[in-house]
Amino acid sequence: WTSGTVVDAENSLAELAALAETAGSQVLEGLIQRRSQPDAATFIGRGKVDELKAAVESTGADTVICDGELSPSQLRNLEQKIKVKVVDRTALILDIFAQHAKSKEGKAQVELAQLQYLVPRLRGWGEALSRQTGGSGRGGGAGGGVGLRGPGETKLETDRRRIRTRIAKLKREITAMGVIRDTKRAGRRRNTVPSVAIAGYTNAGKSSLLNRLTGAGVLVEDALFATLDTATRRTEARDGRVYTLSDTVGFVRHLPHQLVEAFRSTLEEVAYADLVVHVVDGAHPDPEEQVRAVREVLAEVGADRLPELLVVNKADAAPQEMLLRLKREWPDAVFVSARTGEGIEELREIIESRLPVPAVEVLACVP
Ligand code: GDP
Repeated sequence: WTSGTVVDAENSLAELAALAETAGSQVLEGLIQRRSQPDAATFIGRGKVDELKAAVESTGADTVICDGELSPSQLRNLEQKIKVKVVDRTALILDIFAQHAKSKEGKAQVELAQLQYLVPRLRGWGEALSRQTGGSGRGGGAGGGVGLRGPGETKLETDRRRIRTRIAKLKREITAMGVIRDTKRAGRRRNTVPSVAIAGYTNAGKSSLLNRLTGAGVLVEDALFATLDTATRRTEARDGRVYTLSDTVGFVRHLPHQLVEAFRSTLEEVAYADLVVHVVDGAHPDPEEQVRAVREVLAEVGADRLPELLVVNKADAAPQEMLLRLKREWPDAVFVSARTGEGIEELREIIESRLPVPAVEVLACVP
């Protein structure tokens, strides 16, 4: 569903398809509906529901993924009409984050976001619970338990209560883990190690760039959201100064608010950086939109006041006209290719020239 132009909708749908493939689905068909606003009952209009039902039947699809966040009742109504599972963009993104989270903190944050998404969507008898958290293999503390049900209580209420208890526990754990991270960060600051945060839209090439700049073996995947947890590496400038480079969580348009909340602490790392290297994919059809989306999230965590160095990556793959256009639009940007190494030395020099100058101890020698 879109209220924008068809091109916007096509880009958004192509991204949704890429997301679905990242989550392990095989994408069969895309349908776009133009409306001024979503249908209150079924998200898409009645005629479109019939069209969707026919497409589901002819392709044998077992899931429909909608580009947007559906209300609990829209999701239920649509599922009843088309008789297959309906997933919205938020649930899909949450699922990908769940599959890719590596650190203990990252895992806890995603589970918290999933549970917060789930609470208003519980529909009793544990059905939604087993379908959603069980499906991605992260049941957490949501398993059954004897003796939890009070007299006269429904299963739904106990499910809700158990989830709330789990949410409270996760929040406590995350707070505790945050304290450890703050201590580490404070240590780095005390040692006055300058820090550079690499931010950018998901798949822009942040991990590849970090590898190029530091020689570290960070996982690089041609999948959206290969990076979930910040990876910090130390590196040395040519004048011998040590600084850190951190790869941050992948940004995406319409990042579900549950995730912005969950990843706030991780994203806040960026707010403590001395320089934000904002990587944008020059080979993407709409780099400007990606830059806007990333800046929006950066502003949410207060990182918009930091010095930003815009880096247009994938210069090897971007069409010439696009590169020319972007050079006009962003005259101060650095154009590089993490793949071929083009522009990397220049980038390194610029980063180093923008690091804060350390306090110098002056020893006066009096004759
Ligand atoms: P991240 O999600 O921003 O960390 O992106 P990755 O570093 O994981 O890269 C995403 C995909 O883009 C991978 O398939 C990379 O091989 C590819 N990629 C990264 N940099 C370049 C580049 O300069 N040129 C081309 N053609 N592909 C690149």
